[in-house]
This record gives sequence, structure tokens and C-alpha cells, in this order.
Amino acid sequence: MIQVPDYVVKAIELLEKGGFEAYCVGGCVRDSLLGCEPSDWDVCTSATPEEMKVCFEGLRTIDTGIRHGTLTVIVDRNPLEITTYRTDGAYASHRRPVSVNFIRELSGDISRRDFTVNAMCCDKNGAVTDMFGGTEDLSRKIIRCVGDPEERFEEDALRIMRALRFASTLSFEIEKETADALFSKKNLLEYISVERVFSELKKLICGRNAAKVLDDYKEIIASVIPEITPCFGFEQHNVHHCYDVWTHIVKSVGNVRKDERLRLAMLFHDIGKPSMARFDEDGTGHFKGHQIKSAEMLTEILDRFHCDNATLAYVRDLVIEHDNRIPIARKNVKRFMAKHSFDFFMDYLEVRRADTMAQSDYLRQEKLDELEKLAMIAVEVNNENCCLKVTDLAVDGKDMISLGMSGRQIGAMLQRLLDLVVDDKLENDRNVLLEYAKERIR
Ligand code: ATP
Ligand code: MG
Repeated sequence: MIQVPDYVVKAIELLEKGGFEAYCVGGCVRDSLLGCEPSDWDVCTSATPEEMKVCFEGLRTIDTGIRHGTLTVIVDRNPLEITTYRTDGAYASHRRPVSVNFIRELSGDISRRDFTVNAMCCDKNGAVTDMFGGTEDLSRKIIRCVGDPEERFEEDALRIMRALRFASTLSFEIEKETADALFSKKNLLEYISVERVFSELKKLICGRNAAKVLDDYKEIIASVIPEITPCFGFEQHNVHHCYDVWTHIVKSVGNVRKDERLRLAMLFHDIGKPSMARFDEDGTGHFKGHQIKSAEMLTEILDRFHCDNATLAYVRDLVIEHDNRIPIARKNVKRFMAKHSFDFFMDYLEVRRADTMAQSDYLRQEKLDELEKLAMIAVEVNNENCCLKVTDLAVDGKDMISLGMSGRQIGAMLQRLLDLVVDDKLENDRNVLLEYAKERIR
């Protein structure tokens, strides 16, 4: 039995009082049956949006997607999305239906849903209605299309990415017929907007089982990121590595914390390797400059996905730095933190740890010990509130002007002072800094 929250029960009761049916549906039912907290509750009903508004008289409603039958109602301060039972009209270009038809029977609405585990509903008391074997698939941990998989992917190709996303986040297997259709219909993904593909891709790589899904379905990932194809099976011929580039990449994705930027960084950190590979006479592989090449490639890819600039810049910096093995010394850590930030430094260490754990075990313990030491220094520096930015200096631009500097000279001097302070060559003391600056302008 599912525990339906009070505010959802209230909304359902108001609809029932008006003579309509209403059920919780989709992700909330799936997650509840899995024993985890649903991210949100969705309700479906036989009432049209106009009829819903009559039932919810006195409550605030928002016209979220009236044309598609969706109304948001605020119950006890909680927004709740309620959608009229519907079937989809014709699909144009393998994406969203051009029109929807409101219907009065639950079964029609359930059969338009993508996967059996997403096609269950429950009433206000938590009693589950399962028309397509969703509970059994949940217990067997299986993603299976409702109806014929090829047809369902033809209708809306985004479902291809959604299948991979759920396999990753729920750690489920994809049923054979559904999996076959994923491969045979993968080219239809080109009809889907880059934003929707990227949104699913990010959820996929942040899932528990991302490594396995990225590996098992690499050809599908390659249909949205063709640049990864040369990584498949590309052997590295180097003692530090025991996997081909793609296998190494997917393992590193799985090793890092489930954070969007960290996971994107791992996904892209080595994609430039195949094009930068050089082999010694003895066959040993080297990949000098691959981090820059990977950064260039990811910039193009993330731009294509209309990724926001802040994420893109952060991921690019992590990739550029991922192979920067800074010597263990306070000075180097401070410089690095001055260039980026403490948080960035800690993320960089996480990237290096995930990378190391996806390499051969050659010198692994030594590599990990090194990262541990760097982390300890960084925490120490951070706790001391060291001067790391121009704004942390005991002097500012006005001081430089009063010393007679102007224009570019000001910024350049402040930067010079900062470099010296970071390197512990000058004390961050107002008089010391003024003295130093005064001598240099004469
Ligand atoms: P979560 O909200 O946790 O990401 P969810 O299952 O609720 O997962 P949503 O994208 O919120 O996913 O969609 C809600 C429900 O709508 C799904 O459970 C599914 O029943 C249905 N659905 C969503 N997208 C599609 C689609 N492209 N094709 C068919 N049904 C879909
Ligand atoms: Mg949802």
C-alpha cells in the first residue's frame, strides 16, 4: 500500500466530490513501490481542466499546460500537477504529439505511457492499479515498453534516452525486445531537440548504474555524441592503463560522485586521446596534450547541447586540469587555489581519484596517497583564510592610484603583489605591499 500525502488526497477527494475519477500516476507510484521518496506527485483525472477549476473553487490554480490538459493547483501550499486523461493524437517527426484528445477512461491514458514501471497508478488510499505488469517488472528490475517498442520509439524518440536514463538511475536491465528496438531506432534521436536529449543524458550519467549503461549502449550514446566513437576499443598500451579509452571513461564516470559537473568532466576527460595518441618504437602509447584536445571537443559538444555557460566553463577547466600532477607543496596548492578556488581544487582531486581508480593498479596506492596529501594541504590553506584573490590583498586599486599609477598599471601591480603573497615571498601587510609597489613605479 502506498502512503499518499494529505494534500494529494485532498485534491483527489475534491475531484471525486465533483463526480470525477482521479489517481496518482507515473514516477510517484514507481518510486513509492521502490521504497524511495518520490520527487513529485502527479495526478491524472477524468475531469477536463475547466471541470477541475470548478472542483477547486477557492484554491489557487495555474494554467500550466491547459492545451495538454495540465493544471497546477496549490493545496496547503503544495503545487500539484493534475492532467486530464488523454490519448495522444498523431506524432509529427518522431516527437511529441501534435494534438491530444481528452478521454474519460483511465486505461487509455495509461497505455500512452512509456514504460511499464511508469504506467501504474494508485487511488487516494494507495491501492495500485497495474494494467501492464509494472509491479512484476519493478520486482524483476526491468525496463520494458508499454506496447510495441519499435512503434513507441517511432512515435517519440526521446523515449530511447529515457529508457537508458531509467536503466541507469534505477539500476534496471532493459528487456530484450525493448533493447533491440533502442538500437534499431537510435537514429531517430536526431529529431529530438538538443535540450531534451541533454536533460536526459545528464540524468543518465548521474545514475547509479551509469557506467554499465554507457558501456552496454555506447552506440546509442554515440548517436547523440558521435565524437566518442574513436574511443571504443582504443587500446592505450601504457602501464598506467589496463582498459581501452571508452572502458576507462565509463569506469571513471561510475567512480566519481553523482554530481552533474563531475560526471560530465569524467565523460569528456579523455575523449581527445585517440586523436592525440603517439606510439614509441616499443609500442608504448603517449597522449600528450590530450586534455586540451578533450577540452576543445567538449566545448563544441556542450555548445551543441546548449549547455549553460557556467557548467561548460567549469567542466572545461576540470578537464584541462585533470592531468596536471602538481608537486606536493603548499606553494603549488595555493597557486592552484588562487587560479581557481578551494571548491574547484577539491573537485579536481575527486576527478583525479576517479581517474586513478579506473587505471591499472600500477602505483595506484602512491597516486592515491599523493591526492590525500594535496587535500590535506588545501584544507589547511583554506582554514588559514590565506590571501588568494586580488580582493584579499591588504591594498587595493585606490592605493595604487595614490602612488601615482594609472590604467593597466594598477591591475598589473595588484596581480604581481598577489603572486608574491601567494608564493609567501611578501607578507600580506599594507605597509609591506605599499613599500614594494612604491619602489617599482619609480
Ligand atoms: P522523474 O520525475 O523522477 O524524473 P517520472 O517518471 O515522473 O520521473 P516524468 O518525466 O516526470 O518522469 O514523466 C511523468 C510520467 O509521464 C512518466 O512516469 C510516464 O508515465 C509519462 N511520460 C513522460 N514522458 C513520456 C514520454 N516521452 N512518452 C510516454 N510517456 C511519458
Ligand atoms: Mg515526475
